[in-house]
Amino acid sequence: MSATEMSCPGGGKAWTVDVSGKAVCPRCKRSFTTLAGRHRTVSNMPKVPEHTRPKSQKVPRQRG
Ligand SMILES: [Zn+2]
Repeated sequence: MSATEMSCPGGGKAWTVDVSGKAVCPRCKRSFTTLAGRHRTVSNMPKVPEHTRPKSQKVPRQRG
């Protein structure tokens, strides 16, 4: 793991649900299937697993 990768603060927390009713990480909004895998369900993984934050967190400053 490189120093630029930071773990997402959503790891270890309970899942949240997006507008379409899917479980997502409460911080980075990545989907349950992305973080936990397709063969798992929220009932056997009630907490968000540890994962790294997406690198695209740095949003360029917008003018206006
Ligand atoms: Zn996350």
